[in-house]
Amino acid sequence: MEPLLVVKDLKKYFPVKRGLWFGERADVRAVDGVSFAIARGETLGLVGESGCGKSTTARLVLRLLEPTAGEVYYGKTPVFKANREEMHQLRRKMQIVFQDPYSSLDPRMSVKEIVGEGLVIHRLARGQEKTERVAELLEMVGLGPEHMGRYPHEFSGGQRQRIGIARALAVGPELLIADEPVSALDVSIQAQVINLFEDLQGQLGLTYLFIAHDLRVVKHISDRVAVMYLGQIVELAESDELYRNPLHPYTQALLSAIPVTDPKTKRQRIILEGDPPSPIQVPAGCRFHPRCPKRFDPCDTETPVLREVSPGHWVSCHLY
Ligand code: SF4
Repeated sequence: MEPLLVVKDLKKYFPVKRGLWFGERADVRAVDGVSFAIARGETLGLVGESGCGKSTTARLVLRLLEPTAGEVYYGKTPVFKANREEMHQLRRKMQIVFQDPYSSLDPRMSVKEIVGEGLVIHRLARGQEKTERVAELLEMVGLGPEHMGRYPHEFSGGQRQRIGIARALAVGPELLIADEPVSALDVSIQAQVINLFEDLQGQLGLTYLFIAHDLRVVKHISDRVAVMYLGQIVELAESDELYRNPLHPYTQALLSAIPVTDPKTKRQRIILEGDPPSPIQVPAGCRFHPRCPKRFDPCDTETPVLREVSPGHWVSCHLY
């Protein structure tokens, strides 16, 4: 099947001042050569610790940021070369749901204005038609028309995230980028919101790039999962395969932190040494080597590349 989204060798470096006195410059390599594709109707989970570049990747895909290098194709349209009119159309087809439902909704706007804003910008509905469409969208996300006249502060975190989802759906997108959509919510609410994403995908045939810092969150919703570390994808596989047979030591450590519910399964927690290094001073060789419990000779000098080690299972590690 033709992919809906293709990301090729995407890079985003942010220049920063390094020294206090001599104006020395350096780059924060937030995203450093990321490639993946998502098929229509598929969910790709993108996982990693905060600061690994996953949210920057999302913003690049949507062209909310200009890249340092690389390409993104939406269908056949090269996103970074799109003109104003093409970009306007792409913004309808690709929508984002943000992490923080508390700060992503304008507190001065009513729910009707928030959800209906995209309908106005894209001239999709006005007047009574707009009111009916907003009511329909609210029902789709488990709210009701009685919520239209209320303001964000009157809602719980989970409800606000539902409003954010309705806002994203208003313009009829095909691709939804969910940037840590449940991280700010109570654990008890997280599953409800993830179920809503799954239901909506079934109803509307949506394609998802679903970002999270926790492998547990993306487990059920993702068809495939990509694990990011310091601006790069270190492992990518079908969801079942990744959870059953994680190859990269970083993925193994992330998975070991998830509590197992089956008492017959034993999993030893792998504690990683130290924090992720700064993306300004990226370690030589394998970027994970200072924290890797399995590092060996070539790891601190030779850079591993992402290779397909079994059908559909990609890993960047000298062990394979
Ligand atoms: Fe660990 Fe070496 Fe593999 Fe990097 S390449 S993950 S340091 S074993």
